[in-house]
Amino acid sequence: MNQRRDAILVAGSANLDFVVRAHHVPAPGETVLGRELAIVPGGKGANQAVACARAGGCATRMVLALGEDAFAPLMEKSLRDAGVTLHIVRVATAASGVALICLADNAENAITVAPGANSLLRDSDLPPLDGVGYLLLQLETPPETVTAFARAARDKGVKVLLNAAPASALPPALLAAVDVLIVNEDELAKIAPTPTLPRFAGEGREGVAEVLASLDVPCAVVTLGARGCCATERGTFFLQPAFKVEPVDTTAAGDTFCGALAAALCSGSPLPQALRRASAAAALATTRVGAQSSIPDTREVDALLRSHADGRPGALDELAQYCGVRSFQP
Ligand code: ADP
Repeated sequence: MNQRRDAILVAGSANLDFVVRAHHVPAPGETVLGRELAIVPGGKGANQAVACARAGGCATRMVLALGEDAFAPLMEKSLRDAGVTLHIVRVATAASGVALICLADNAENAITVAPGANSLLRDSDLPPLDGVGYLLLQLETPPETVTAFARAARDKGVKVLLNAAPASALPPALLAAVDVLIVNEDELAKIAPTPTLPRFAGEGREGVAEVLASLDVPCAVVTLGARGCCATERGTFFLQPAFKVEPVDTTAAGDTFCGALAAALCSGSPLPQALRRASAAAALATTRVGAQSSIPDTREVDALLRSHADGRPGALDELAQYCGVRSFQP
């Protein structure tokens, strides 16, 4: 009898974000008096695990490395409260990951990350993959570890989703083990084979679809902020315009998209429906301030999908034109 594989394992980073709002971001050598301090759990891995768990439909597990300090329990609590089962690698020689974030009134920000324990996640830390159908990875932990996890999962028949963020070139061995690659536009530009596809390197973005299709993965998805997203799988393009909302803070929109997409795929949704749910979840995340606190649950996503059943007239054609896609499935 086949073993049930209805769990998602997220492997990646957890940071505690120290966020100060201020008039402007300090210049080198300058001290700026900011306003109130907010201390909130973040990190791409942890945000995506929360998004996955809130999306529902599958069990969410996460492997993460934390220090033995007062910050670790805050991150653990946020993940557990969302319903994530944790495999914690306790690191005695480093602090938990921390991000120092200055948010300016003109929406500029300056972020310094001290990855700490995140940079000590090792190949041998991968937990057993029993019952795991999907592994969701990002690039805030060492690339060797991400590659080793992806290859081990691939060998066990687990589908590998990689959010190639923050933007960086990808080791070929990692790309070879990926089933679904998710990037935003900047990350796509970073991994694009630009010498062979010069149009994307220039001003025009008409080559987005062309670059996406050139990537050597079974399925590639690019998120395009308020425009929506475009995916390609086995030679077919899929387009999903963004849901019309009033955004107040786009922090964690991409993370929400990735977690919700993984949950939908693991629950058996076909790609177009999974893109739609992920886009709805990400749109809702932009309507609230914060990272993990802004991520919606499945009931909120269902409500948005019901209220936007028909979509915005013309949005699909605009997106197709922007991406340079002539033939697609909505
Ligand atoms: P990242 O946060 O990684 O840069 P994007 O900005 O591309 O990622 O956003 C990810 C997804 O979030 C988009 O594909 C879209 O579905 C949704 N999204 C982002 N910004 C908005 C917005 N202003 N309105 C509606 N949806 C948005």
